Amino acid sequence: MPEPMERSQQDFLPYGRQSITEDDVAAVAEVLRGDWLTTGPALTRFEDDLASVSGAAGAVAVTSGTAALHTAYAAAGVGPGDEVVVSPMTFVATASTAVLRGARVVFADVEPDTGNLDVDAARTATGPRTRVVAAVDYAGHPARLDELATVARDADALLLEDAAHSVGGAWHGTPVGALAGLTTFSFFPTKNLTTAEGGAVVSPYEELLARARRFRNHGLVRDKAAQRRPDEGDWHQEVHEFGLNYRLPDVLAALGSSQLRRLAWFKQRRAEIHAAYDRGLADVDGVRTPVTRDGADPMWHLYPLRVLDGRRRALFGHLRGAGIGVQVNYVPVYWHPVFADLGYQRGLCPNAERFYADELSLPLWPGLADADVERVITEVRGFFSA
Ligand SMILES: *Cc1c(COP(=O)(O)O)cnc(C)c1O
Repeated sequence: MPEPMERSQQDFLPYGRQSITEDDVAAVAEVLRGDWLTTGPALTRFEDDLASVSGAAGAVAVTSGTAALHTAYAAAGVGPGDEVVVSPMTFVATASTAVLRGARVVFADVEPDTGNLDVDAARTATGPRTRVVAAVDYAGHPARLDELATVARDADALLLEDAAHSVGGAWHGTPVGALAGLTTFSFFPTKNLTTAEGGAVVSPYEELLARARRFRNHGLVRDKAAQRRPDEGDWHQEVHEFGLNYRLPDVLAALGSSQLRRLAWFKQRRAEIHAAYDRGLADVDGVRTPVTRDGADPMWHLYPLRVLDGRRRALFGHLRGAGIGVQVNYVPVYWHPVFADLGYQRGLCPNAERFYADELSLPLWPGLADADVERVITEVRGFFSA
């Protein structure tokens, strides 16, 4: 196991941070010295590595988790007239990329304890126009993907799993990536592995992967058998459906493959820190520690502490003042003014609103030292005993 490089001397503890080794640096430098800066062998290798980690038929790497969601909705054929059922306890991109495809988003409430999409609420939210049901593995704890897949199937829709938090996790023994029709990842620096910016779509279905691959590359069709004008010339490629340039450079794909080699260690270290917070805070009266469902094998991306009695804002201020970079994940998506302007009203998903009201994410990243974790626990305990 290569040692991560020293983190810069800093007293401030961010809530998330990348872990970069000299091996990562060497992998990037090697690509920079070679012939392919983009769409070359490092990309193919990274996609193969991702497919094997996630038990999928293949992977389509793109430039961000947001691009991955946009690409996944395009691959699912989401367009005007369609509805997409979305969990509100997520980053805005899970919903906004569906709106950008022309769909109407229908928010379904979450479970009060995990913050994951509630199966009954999702079922109630489906209808004849539902094209996709989009679940989020909040904090890295998988949603009830088997039951949600049934909800989607009964509505003649696809299940999309926004696994920006959960690459490397599993649900009842099946890896994240093999459970939903489409699964998306993010490789932003605070996530479970990084390519600086990056993301991917994985799927068990070759046809969805092919559509995702085309969307990532302007919609260009290069296969002569599929072209309308194959006799145009050997230079010819043609667009049948609009796409974008979401191609991940080889420079970054090489970083991704290098990071994936440490995925098991990342998972273990994140689980250790998560367990240390549980042990250190379980007996504190003013908080509730996160739950883990039977059958869940989480990849803990966040440690979502629940702060009771309306004291979240005060604890946030106390910890920030002590140099501890806590965060709040997330404001219910439909509270964003852009959704309010579309007519979505407060009160729509009461569980999500209560979850947001008392959630506080403690620092969680693999390079966090045991002493840092103890410092966070001591500050939280100190706040409640004062
Ligand atoms: C980070 C994140 C995204 C967006 O990923 P980017 O790589 O930042 O574009 C989408 N959904 C969730 C749940 C996320 O946490």
